Amino acid sequence: MKYVLDVHCHSISSGHAYSTITENINYAKDKLELLAITDHAPKMPGSCSKIHFLNFGVLPRKVDNLEIIYGVELNIIGENGELDLPQNIIDRLDIKIASLHPPCFAPVDDREYITNTIINVMKNKDINIIGHLGDPRYPIDIEKLVRVSKDTKTLIEINNASLSSTNTRCGGESIIENILKECKQQNVEVILNSDAHYHTQIGDFSNIFPLLKKTNFPDELIVNTSVEKFKSYL
Ligand SMILES: [Zn+2]
Ligand SMILES: [Zn+2]
Repeated sequence: MKYVLDVHCHSISSGHAYSTITENINYAKDKLELLAITDHAPKMPGSCSKIHFLNFGVLPRKVDNLEIIYGVELNIIGENGELDLPQNIIDRLDIKIASLHPPCFAPVDDREYITNTIINVMKNKDINIIGHLGDPRYPIDIEKLVRVSKDTKTLIEINNASLSSTNTRCGGESIIENILKECKQQNVEVILNSDAHYHTQIGDFSNIFPLLKKTNFPDELIVNTSVEKFKSYL
């Protein structure tokens, strides 16, 4: 199966990613139909300030056959689902991912607290995707979150970088496997994303493939198979 889109990648603006938006686009244009640029929102140490997210109008939305959309990976900063960009900026963006990151939300071994925090974000109609679910530092009630994902049409992300041994979120393979099992069980769609911090990682989902195989995960439940399917979540 061909996966035609990757909607989570970073540029040098994030502070700890190493390619420009131009390099990202040039790499993606021969591989994908749709790319989203989603740099970290301002609370991530070293990332850009909010003005970065106000000037996307200068950037191309089509290069050869590649469509490019522009958004953000927001930081979840409070248990009520608080995020780190003002509403008037969020309103201008094509795509909004929200994620838990230790510098912005202290990990706590409390499944109910973390689950409720994520549910509060899923209920926010502006949020399209919950980033890298399955981080072992943030315990979750998978059955509950998959149900709310379906009810709110907020996509659960299966993150390729999380499955790399060099990533700070490593060790979550079995959790991610259980997320896939539960999504299959409840017939809920997921999105695969690279979370590239260097352009050659764009469109690379190779760390996820063994888990898709192991869970016999149906391609019909992967939105990366069609731009149209994905856009129904925007
Ligand atoms: Zn990052
Ligand atoms: Zn992230």
